[in-house]
Amino acid sequence: MREVLEQLKDLAGHCAGTPVWSLPDTDLVSAVHAVHDAEQMLAAAKLHLVREIDGRSLPVAQEAASTAVWLRERLHISIHAARRMVDLAGVLDKRPVLDAALSSAAVNVEQAHIVAKTIQDLTCEAEPDVADLAEKTLIEDHAGWEPAILRKVAARILAHVAPEVAEDADRRAVERDEKRAQQTRAFTLTNNGDGRFRLTGWLDAEAAAIVNAALDPLCKPDTDRTPTQRRADALVEICQLALRTTHLPENGGDRPQIVVTVPYDVARKELRQGQLDTGETLTAEQVRRLACDSQIIPMVLGGDGQVLDVGQSRRLFTGPLRRALVARDGGCAFPGCDRPPQWCDGHHIRHWATGGDTALNNGVLLCGHHHRVIHRGEWEARMADDGRPEFIPPAYVDPERKPRRNIYHRRP
Ligand SMILES: [Zn+2]
Ligand SMILES: [Zn+2]
Repeated sequence: MREVLEQLKDLAGHCAGTPVWSLPDTDLVSAVHAVHDAEQMLAAAKLHLVREIDGRSLPVAQEAASTAVWLRERLHISIHAARRMVDLAGVLDKRPVLDAALSSAAVNVEQAHIVAKTIQDLTCEAEPDVADLAEKTLIEDHAGWEPAILRKVAARILAHVAPEVAEDADRRAVERDEKRAQQTRAFTLTNNGDGRFRLTGWLDAEAAAIVNAALDPLCKPDTDRTPTQRRADALVEICQLALRTTHLPENGGDRPQIVVTVPYDVARKELRQGQLDTGETLTAEQVRRLACDSQIIPMVLGGDGQVLDVGQSRRLFTGPLRRALVARDGGCAFPGCDRPPQWCDGHHIRHWATGGDTALNNGVLLCGHHHRVIHRGEWEARMADDGRPEFIPPAYVDPERKPRRNIYHRRP
């Protein structure tokens, strides 16, 4: 075998080193098929070797914790890929039909994984000959399907090959999926190190339905955000809504809040870049927006660390002042927005850091999205003579820049 493998490597190296730009279309297509088939056959050969290595416990003899760990170290592949390899190698060893199918490239590796999983599920649930029949049916009748469809076919295969046990197995499969969904539920928020955080996780069907039901009403189409951007904003808005209520459990004696420490330049009356208590940096724009209606701790810039006397009571739209804003604006005051008050921050038209008051005639309710829009600075908010807020669009929206109002919340 050693000699054959040497030749094989030479031939593969030759193929990989051959320029393909000169091939006519038909040859190009048949070549891709040929290389793909050869890959599947070689994968079968590799799995046979893995199985034998595993069977002889070579990895354990070499102090590896498992065959998968050993493969990871040797082949520099992920532990996930290594485990899948060991699992499939084990199934091929017991299932000559599937083994022959992969070895002749009648199915590819992805399909083989699906067939293997189906057989394994069936062997615990049905008579052995049912698993045999399912294996044969999937390989002979359905190998033309790509993995996503094959997986669906496989899920229904029992109804096809053994309708009498299908119902029972279905129920158990649902229970098994549910149990797995419960056990693997997870949520992580990781710093990507480039100013972004990555959300990953798993939910069971019920939890996903709850999250979707809460997010969907906040995800109405609009022109300047993609659907996924809207969903991201919606998640944050839901958390802001929860923070505004008194229903969240206290965190070390305090109401849960975001806390930002921010240098305040007294001479220029300006807030600089700030820091969250988790250590992340926020831009000056983000700081100004948060400072409108969140708990922040301003620090005198370049001073002796003395905390500046900008009391929260003077900065935040709370209590009677917030109720007065709600009564006047009825919700987000941005033109055309229908977001109700509980989704809104109080925004300072003239920022408190530059001397603006926390008062009714300097405040306006804005939803999270429109609060960001206003702080970006293209739209301008101002108080009209009748004491109601109005908004001046940027010239690219309206060359005449006529002030607009929100008529959505206005009471008759
Ligand atoms: Zn603001
Ligand atoms: Zn709005």
